[in-house]
Amino acid sequence: MINVPIEGVHSAPAPAEFKTVVGSDKIVLASKARRKNEAKFKCDICDHRFTAKHNLQNHMNSHSNKRPHECQKCGNTFTTKGTHARHESICTGRAVRKRF
Ligand SMILES: [Zn+2]
Ligand SMILES: [Zn+2]
Repeated sequence: MINVPIEGVHSAPAPAEFKTVVGSDKIVLASKARRKNEAKFKCDICDHRFTAKHNLQNHMNSHSNKRPHECQKCGNTFTTKGTHARHESICTGRAVRKRF
């Protein structure tokens, strides 16, 4: 038997590291999840949402049953004077103060 000294383990050169970092997909998804214009004006009748108040008001006109009582602050409309007054007192911060 001949002992052959192994000098230097033969090892294949490490392959160049492949850079597989693809960040574009995540960026696209993040931008999609984040809406710039939030549709915060909602139609009470059909739950349609609008980004602008005048768009909602135009839409409300298209509904057959008009609501004559409009809140001076937020533009919400009401079918009866009572619900309108109650809403407006809360909306404008002039809620009824009870004295003790
Ligand atoms: Zn509607
Ligand atoms: Zn209001």
